Amino acid sequence: MLNGKTALVTGSTSGIGLGIARALAAQGANIILNGFGDVQGPRAEVAALGVKVGYHGADMSKPAEIAAMMDYAAAEFGRVDILVNNAGIQHVARIEDFPVERWDAVIAINLTSAFHATRLALPAMREANWGRIINVASVHGLVASAEKSAYVAAKHGIVGLTKVTALENATTGVTCNAICPGWVLTPLVQKQVDAKAAALGVSNEEAKKVLLGEKEPSMQFTTPEELGALAVFFCSPAGNNVRGVAWNMDGGWTAQ
Ligand code: NAD
Repeated sequence: MLNGKTALVTGSTSGIGLGIARALAAQGANIILNGFGDVQGPRAEVAALGVKVGYHGADMSKPAEIAAMMDYAAAEFGRVDILVNNAGIQHVARIEDFPVERWDAVIAINLTSAFHATRLALPAMREANWGRIINVASVHGLVASAEKSAYVAAKHGIVGLTKVTALENATTGVTCNAICPGWVLTPLVQKQVDAKAAALGVSNEEAKKVLLGEKEPSMQFTTPEELGALAVFFCSPAGNNVRGVAWNMDGGWTAQ
C-alpha cells in the first residue's frame, strides 16, 4: 500500500517508534530511522522487510540537527511523505523539585522538535499534494498525572499542534493526526516500573500490575504493533479525511 513512499520516524531505534517503522515498512514504505543507542539491530530488522532504510542521528532537541536530517532525507530519499514525530523522553518529579534543565529538554524533544520537523516537511508534502504527519502524543495529551508537568504540558501541546497542522492543510492531501497511547512496555516505561518496584519493595511483575491498576482498566499494556497498525490506518486511503484527531489506544484510561 505504501510502496514508493518514504517515512521518517523520529526516535525509532526503540519502542513505539521502531514498532511504527516496522508496520510502515511492512506496507512497503522506505524508512528513515532516527534515535540514539543501537542502530544496527533496528536497521537490520526493518531492512529485512525488503525496503530501503536510512538513518540520521539528529538530536531532536537541536533545531540545526533536525534541519540537517530533513536535508539528508531530501537528498537520499527525494522527500518525506510520512513524518512520524515520535521521539520523546520522560522525567518524573513534583513541580517545585523539577530540574529546570529537564523541563527544557522534555519540551524541546517532546514538543518543539515536532514543530521543526513539521515545518520543514510540509512544503514537499504540499507540492506532492499527499502527506501524513503522525504525532505520537499520549493519554497525557488528554489528561494529566501528578509529577509529570513537563511531559503533560508537552503532550497537550502536541495535540494542539496536531489540530493546527490539520486545519492549515485541510483542503490538501496532507493530513495530521495524533496517537495517544496509555502504558506501553518500552524502556521509557520500564524505568517507571523499576522505580515503582523499588519504592514499594515489590517484584517487577507486581510493580507492572500496580502501575496498570492505577490508570489502565484493561490491565494490559498497549503494544508497539497495535500502535503501528493505527499509523498504517492513518496512511491508508480510508484515512484521507481523518484530520486533527487525537486517537487514544489506552485500555480505557481516558474513558474513566
Ligand atoms: P523509548 O525510550 O523506547 O524510545 C524513545 C526513542 O526516542 C528512542 O529511539 C530514543 O533514542 C529516542 N530519543 C530520545 N531522545 C532523543 C533525542 N534527543 N533525539 C533523537 N531521538 C531521541 O520510548 P517509547 O516509550 O517508545 O516512547 C516513544 C514516544 O511514545 C514518546 O514520545 C513517548 O512520550 C510516547 N509515549 C510512550 C508511552 C509509553 O507508555 N511507553 C505512552 C504514551 C506515549
